[in-house]
Amino acid sequence: MLQVLQSNQYGSFIMQLEGSCYCGAVRFSCDAYAPVPYLRCYCSICRKTGGGGGYAINLGANAGGLKVSGSENITVFHAVIDGEQSPAERRFCNKCGSALWVQDPRWPDLIHPFASAIDTDLPQPPEHIHIMLSARPDWVRIDDNGTEDRFDNYPSESLEDWHRRHNVLSGDQA
Ligand SMILES: [Zn+2]
Ligand SMILES: [Zn+2]
Repeated sequence: MLQVLQSNQYGSFIMQLEGSCYCGAVRFSCDAYAPVPYLRCYCSICRKTGGGGGYAINLGANAGGLKVSGSENITVFHAVIDGEQSPAERRFCNKCGSALWVQDPRWPDLIHPFASAIDTDLPQPPEHIHIMLSARPDWVRIDDNGTEDRFDNYPSESLEDWHRRHNVLSGDQA
């Protein structure tokens, strides 16, 4: 899958993603500029609201291309981070609980779908980057043979920068 992305002209490719919740009450599609699910986030928000240890992954897509059906079944949740309510809007299906995507009024052009909600085949990442390890419980293994980058919090490298570094950036954000 990665080779398919690399064969596209640099900066000219948007990957359209189709997504849905588990029960099917919510379906959506979006145009992803950062479709490679390379981030494994070990924070308590991902773990508890996404239901996993390091596998609830945010992708990057353009807010303008978002289409949603069943939006009446979506509820918005705001996490509390360091004692303050985060402006980030975490959307989930209020019928089955599936985490769908995050959007944030501070970055209105972007949405961040959870890879777990995407039905389209995503490119297999050439590496993982492990983030928010300060919140990892002991039972969650980091499966990387010690060779992949690990961060206690968030890396400074953006989704876009990672895709550019690996020559898999898609879309018109280049
Ligand atoms: Zn659902
Ligand atoms: Zn997280």
